[in-house]
Amino acid sequence: MSTCLQHEVVIIGSGFGGAVMSARLSRQWPGRVLVLERGKEYPLGAYPRSPAEMADNVWSPDGDTARRPRAVRRRKAERGHLTGMFDIRHFEKIDTVTSAVYGGGSQIYANVFLRPPAAVFEQGWPSELRRDVLAPYYDVAQQVLGARPVPPAIGEDDRRYIQRTERFQEFARQAGLPTKMADICVYFGNDYTYRGSDKPVPLGVQEANRYGALQTSCTYCGECDIGCNVQAKNSVDHNYLHVARNRYKTAVRTQCEVERIVPLDADRADDPDGDGYHGYRVYFRDLRMGETVSVTTQRVVVSAGTLGTNELLMRSRDVHKTLPRISQRLGQRFSGNGDFLAFAVDGKMEVNSTYGPVITQYTDHRLYKDLDRKQAFLLQDASYPTQVGWATAALGPVMNPLDMLWTTCKQVLAYAFDKFYPGRKHSSVGFMVQKLFSHDLSQYSAVLLCMGLDNAKGVLRLNKEGYLDIDWPQESNKSLYDAIISLGKRFTQFIGGKHYLPMPTWLWPVKNNITVHPLGGCAIADNPELGVVSAQAGSRGQVFGYQGLYVADGSLMPTALGANPVATITALSEWIAHDITGMAPDAAL
Ligand SMILES: Cc1cc2nc3c(=O)[nH]c(=O)nc-3n(C[C@H](O)[C@H](O)[C@H](O)COP(=O)(O)OP(=O)(O)OC[C@H]3O[C@@H](n4cnc5c(N)ncnc54)[C@H](O)[C@@H]3O)c2cc1C
Ligand code: SF4
Repeated sequence: MSTCLQHEVVIIGSGFGGAVMSARLSRQWPGRVLVLERGKEYPLGAYPRSPAEMADNVWSPDGDTARRPRAVRRRKAERGHLTGMFDIRHFEKIDTVTSAVYGGGSQIYANVFLRPPAAVFEQGWPSELRRDVLAPYYDVAQQVLGARPVPPAIGEDDRRYIQRTERFQEFARQAGLPTKMADICVYFGNDYTYRGSDKPVPLGVQEANRYGALQTSCTYCGECDIGCNVQAKNSVDHNYLHVARNRYKTAVRTQCEVERIVPLDADRADDPDGDGYHGYRVYFRDLRMGETVSVTTQRVVVSAGTLGTNELLMRSRDVHKTLPRISQRLGQRFSGNGDFLAFAVDGKMEVNSTYGPVITQYTDHRLYKDLDRKQAFLLQDASYPTQVGWATAALGPVMNPLDMLWTTCKQVLAYAFDKFYPGRKHSSVGFMVQKLFSHDLSQYSAVLLCMGLDNAKGVLRLNKEGYLDIDWPQESNKSLYDAIISLGKRFTQFIGGKHYLPMPTWLWPVKNNITVHPLGGCAIADNPELGVVSAQAGSRGQVFGYQGLYVADGSLMPTALGANPVATITALSEWIAHDITGMAPDAAL
C-alpha cells in the first residue's frame, strides 16, 4: 500500500451521499479528504430568478453528449457552455431531473425526509439490511438534517397557515386514506422540537445553526425547488459539508467533473488490471480551465447520484477499460421510484399553491397501510414559486379561448355604445387587473406529486456513443400509474377542478414518465451475483472486485422505496461510513 498519495479519500459528488461521507471520513482523516463536484457553489441570494437566467440554469457543458430535451439543446446552441444546476435528460420512456450544484439534490429538493415502510426492505434487499438495522442511522440523519413538520399555525391569519395542507388533508379524509404531516428539512430555529421548545423562530430571522452556518427561519416563499435564496433549506452545505470543510478541513473543488477512475500499481503508475490495493488516480475536467487533470488517492467514494455514478463506473469499465472487474449487474434494477406528476386545474375551492415550503403532508395509498405492491403510492401536495403563479394567471385566457372571445366582443360592443351610455365600458386599468387576477389559477389549482413502488426493472446502459441511456419498462408498471391517475382525478373532482392534467410528457404520443428520484443500478447486495456493491460488514459500500472503491448515493437502492428517498440514502451512507471509520455516528458530527 502506497504512503505517498495526495489524498486519503477522494469523494465524487457533494449531494446527500457525498456530504455524509465527507463529514464522517474527514473526521477520521482531517485535511486528507478532497470533494470533487461538477456544479457551482451558490452563496446567499445567488440563485437565479429572471426568465433568462432560469433558461440558462441547466446543465449542458462543452462537449456534453447526454440525451437532452430539445429546449436545452437549442439553448446550448445559442449560449454554448451551460453549467446551471438542473440536469434534465430525455430518454425513450422516461425523463429525469437531477442536480448539478454544490450540495447536490439538497439544493433543489422538496425537503421531505421519510422512512419507507419496513416491508420494502423484505424483498430484494440484502438479507441483513432491514429497516430496524438502519433505524439508528435514520435517527442521526434526521437530527443533522433537522427534519420535522412545518410548525402549526394559530389561525388562518397566522403567516404559518398553509391552506393547501388543509385541502389535501380534507381530501384524504373524504377518500378514507391516512394523511400525515411530513418531516421536512427546513430551518424554523435551532430549538424547535429538538431541545424541548416548541417555539419556532419568527419568519425571516437569521441566526447561526447548530453547526455554525448562517440560516434564516423559513419565509414560506415556496421557492424550495429552485434554490432557497435565504438559506432556510437545511441543505447539506449547512450541516454535513459545512462541518467537513470548516472543522475537518476537507478540500472542495467545484466545477470539476470526474471522467474516469484508474487503479494504481505499487509505483503509483496507472494499472487498469489492479484491484485498488495501491490506491487510485482520479481524472477530472476542470470546467473553468477547460483541461483534464488528475489526483491520486488511497480510496475513492463515488457519490455522483444514480445517473452520475452509473455513467462514471460504466464508462470507466467499458469505454476506458480501467475498472474491468465491476459486476455485469451494473445498471440493473433501475427505478424511477414510481414518480408521477399531475395538476388539478381551475377548481372551485381555494388551494393557494404558491405559499409555504414545497411539501407539507403525504396521503398514503396502500404503501404504509394495507400494502399492495401493485398500487402502493403516496400523494403529496406541492407549492411552486409565485413567478410560476403569475405565469399561470396569464395563462388563464389561453385555457379558455371562448371566454376570451366573449370578453373581447363585450369590449367592442361597450365601446360602440359608449357614446350613448357614457362610463359603461370596461376599459380602465383597474378593470383589466381585476379581471386578470380575480380567478388566479394558482389559487384554485393544485400540484399532485405522487411516488410509489414501481418494479425497479429498468436498465441503465451506455448507448453507442458511450453515454448513458435508460430502458424503462413503463407498461409493466401500468397498475401503479392507473391507480395514481384514478386518485388524481378524484382529487380534481374534490376541488371542483375543470381539468386533470398529467405532465405534458405523459400525453400521447410521447407518453414519458418523469422522475426526480432515479434510483438503483449499483445495487447493494450480499454477493456479486446479486448486485454491484457489498453489504457485508468490513466491506460495506465497497464495489465487489475492488478495495477502497466505494459507492454512497441513490444508486445503491436495489428496489424502489415508495417514500421520498433522501432519508434512506443518508441513513445508508451513515451505515457505510460507520463500517469504514469504526466510529458510531452522532448528530454532533
Ligand atoms: C425537484 C426535486 C425535488 C425532490 N424532492 C425530494 C424530497 O422532498 N425528498 C426526497 O427524499 N428526495 C427528493 N428529491 C430527490 C433527491 O434530491 C435525490 O434523491 C437525492 O439528491 C439523491 O442524492 P444522491 O446523494 O444520490 O445524489 P445527488 O444529491 O444528486 O448528488 C450527486 C452530486 O454529484 C455531482 N456529480 C455528478 N456527476 C459528477 C461527476 N462526474 N463529477 C463530479 N460531480 C458529479 C452532481 O452535480 C451532484 O451534486 C427531489 C429531487 C428533485 C429534483
Ligand atoms: S419556502 Fe422559501 S424560505 Fe422556506 S425553505 Fe422554501 S425556499 Fe426557503
